Amino acid sequence: MHHLPLLLLLWVMGSWSFPTSLTDPKEQDMKMVQTYLESYYRLENDGHKIAKQRDHSPVVEKLKQMQKFFGLKVTGKPDAETLKVMRQPRCGVPDVAPLSITSRIFRWEHTSLTYRIETYTKDMHPAEVDRAIEKAFNLWSQVTPLTFTKVFEGQADIMISFVYGDHYDNSPFDGPGNTLAHAFPPGSGLGGDVHFDEDETWTNNLKEYNLYRVAAHELGHSLGLSHSMDIGALMYPSYFYSGEVQFSQSDIQDIQALYGPSKNPFQPEAPKTPEPCDSKLTFDAITTLRGEIIFFKDRFYLRVIRNYPVELQHISDLWPALPNKLQAAYEVTNKDEVRFFKGNKYWAFQGHDMLPGYPKDIYVLGFPRTVKSIDAAVYEETTSKTYFFVDNKYWRYDETKESMDKGYPKLIQDGFPGIGNKVDAVFSDDNFFYFFHGTRQYEFDPKTKSILRLRKTNSWFNCRKKY
Ligand code: ZN
Ligand code: CA
Ligand code: ZN
Repeated sequence: MHHLPLLLLLWVMGSWSFPTSLTDPKEQDMKMVQTYLESYYRLENDGHKIAKQRDHSPVVEKLKQMQKFFGLKVTGKPDAETLKVMRQPRCGVPDVAPLSITSRIFRWEHTSLTYRIETYTKDMHPAEVDRAIEKAFNLWSQVTPLTFTKVFEGQADIMISFVYGDHYDNSPFDGPGNTLAHAFPPGSGLGGDVHFDEDETWTNNLKEYNLYRVAAHELGHSLGLSHSMDIGALMYPSYFYSGEVQFSQSDIQDIQALYGPSKNPFQPEAPKTPEPCDSKLTFDAITTLRGEIIFFKDRFYLRVIRNYPVELQHISDLWPALPNKLQAAYEVTNKDEVRFFKGNKYWAFQGHDMLPGYPKDIYVLGFPRTVKSIDAAVYEETTSKTYFFVDNKYWRYDETKESMDKGYPKLIQDGFPGIGNKVDAVFSDDNFFYFFHGTRQYEFDPKTKSILRLRKTNSWFNCRKKY
């Protein structure tokens, strides 16, 4: 019975802090879905409310199209995952072309292009704006034969401006958040031009929104690219920024399909976005986290959610403080703590919150200075011990005493016979260990010190299922 006053209190507080609580939040979500599909999926606004739509209605079809684009489960319903994606700040260019021009290719017919910055944002020093824009152009000129020359007057191929709200091109901006910028495909007049929403705060750091990051994306449109479904691509519609602006292989393929390769012998690194169902997939680190299994690869994590396509996301989305290319990770389940390793540093989190004082040196755990990095780590709940794998050896750490056990390191082949003498990643599930090395996965029983099964590295991702 003593629950009741608390509930009442919460209810009172709830209505106190949300004076508009009379509005059904579901109705607000529906309104957002409608606006999103109108803005980015060319849903016709026929004045009907989305709530009244039936299966196979244009809204449901557009919603399915959007879910397919973002690799979500295609339900035709605005489920939580779908709403989460719709709330991400993004580019204003629609993800689908109007039917009339779907097969048309936009590209510049000359390779020496000009640009002009017509107006500046009040958020940054003009020199910082110049630098961000120049860096964004440099990205594209490194991978194409295109050159970009800045001009200070007259009409340039690519006119760049910061504008508010309705700026008379039939694509009004929407105030802070949501749409950040848009750009027009190659052509005369507005063709190639880039508009930034001056209602956003523009930065040259990790705070939202980094101008260089957004400019790099928009210039892709100015050169003729449309949005990519590759979450690692610069041309993915949503805004992600973790400190570096990087092409994925798909960006380079797409732009070189229009203009051919650069004559520059130096080609920037273009990582491939991991494909969960690629049987050659390897991992940097794997950990459990509150009952889920999370796989790390380059800038990304893959999360297995039951009955859903595996979720591929940027590490910075959940853990902004973490670097890319992690080397090891493990969860101390009974402390609800997860630890990540890279080089001689490690970071500890409770869920998504970093614990104070991190990152720390791995030497505080008791490693000698000769250890420069950890390959893999796993916690054994039944013994409260953590195993650390370094080259062909392993160490054992007592999480209760918070010290390294005596008598280590030992050879992997002695403690874990059959798994080879190097480990990329390991995690524990149901008291079994799952070791990964290259394209192999070993299911290992630590009690009997034996391998139970060999599996493919992507065996956790429901790859046989059609999404
Ligand atoms: Zn875009
Ligand atoms: Ca906006
Ligand atoms: Zn505009």
